[in-house]
Amino acid sequence: MDKCIFCMIANGEIPSNTIYEDDSFRVILDNGPATKGHALVLPKKHYEGLFDIPEDTLSGAAKVAKKVATRIKDKLGADGLNLIQNNGEAAGQTVMHFHLHIIPRYHDDIQNILWDPTSPSAEELAKVRDEIVG
Ligand code: 5GP
Ligand code: ZN
Repeated sequence: MDKCIFCMIANGEIPSNTIYEDDSFRVILDNGPATKGHALVLPKKHYEGLFDIPEDTLSGAAKVAKKVATRIKDKLGADGLNLIQNNGEAAGQTVMHFHLHIIPRYHDDIQNILWDPTSPSAEELAKVRDEIVG
């Protein structure tokens, strides 16, 4: 089996544009950035995504993201920022090693990182609520 590319990057076996590193995480620039400064928070241990990452590693990733996102926003003068984390092919995940996207946004950027809202009835929404909490 091929080694996981993000395991190799996170552990320094493959060079990357690293903007932050500690014992547990490496933050790199995405090589296909949505916008200037698009970065990825990578845990050094391999987890596929939200459903297998331990809670303390997830909260550690969130802390790192806050620190690095603040720096990116200040240094690059971003007007806003999206934090995105994809799980599974259906959600657009292409690299099956947990990563948190930090995507700085600019008033004049060409991205449209939003969804098309739908219009369920009050009954349909209540049914979904019951499916989840039932
Ligand atoms: P996903 O769609 O899985 O949430 O996002 C994967 C991201 O990783 C994409 O934005 C893609 O551009 C980025 N990516 C894939 N391979 C590499 C790589 O080898 N190096 C870097 N720096 N980014 C990568
Ligand atoms: Zn991995």
